[in-house]
Amino acid sequence: MGTRAIRIVSIATAVAGCAGGARPTPVAPNEEPRDPSTDHRATEDPARSGPGGTGARLEGGCGFAPTALTPKYLLPFPEGELFTLTQGNCGRASHAGRFRYSFDFEMPIGTPVIAARDGVVFTVRGDRSDGTGRVGDENFIILEHEDGEYSRYIHLTRAGVFVLRGQAVSRGDTIGLSGHSGRSAFPHLHFDVAEACRAGPCQTVPSAFLNAEPPIPSERRTYSARGGSR
Ligand SMILES: [Zn+2]
Repeated sequence: MGTRAIRIVSIATAVAGCAGGARPTPVAPNEEPRDPSTDHRATEDPARSGPGGTGARLEGGCGFAPTALTPKYLLPFPEGELFTLTQGNCGRASHAGRFRYSFDFEMPIGTPVIAARDGVVFTVRGDRSDGTGRVGDENFIILEHEDGEYSRYIHLTRAGVFVLRGQAVSRGDTIGLSGHSGRSAFPHLHFDVAEACRAGPCQTVPSAFLNAEPPIPSERRTYSARGGSR
């Protein structure tokens, strides 16, 4: 492969903007969690009304038709681990604008984070302390994938980056440890899939998981990474 012109453009703004969403409040056994799609900010951007243009609003989505999405990513944590999605796509806490198609999983600092898909490490940062609460203090890993998509793993713990820029990784590899760095209300992993990261700030795009049910997780529900993939 030729020289990779890695443009480190606006890294702070590339990863800032996620607080983590609301901690889950106890839900009575028979009470349905609130459907995040009712907070439908994607209507601000008709261009993102989605493949097929149906505007179908299925659980977990916002402004696109989830059925048109081909799952390409694993949940970003090891098989068998169980975590709650505290903020999903278009979550009202901070998943708006360029961050609208994002997922926040609450997890203890130091939880292994895995590569959700084969790729090459685009950029990383791992030297910031946990718990500062400041935008721009995020530790992160960004992987680049063969179709021009990027997966991003944000709020990692200090020294919780195990990969180097330019390194090839395989789906399922442990690449780092989750944390509480940057603008983060509580320890969690922010995961999203983005595009256009070489041209400027990344723009998140809809994504779905191979080993989650449903493939687009819903807020306040708990997800376990299932073994294997479809
Ligand atoms: Zn987030």
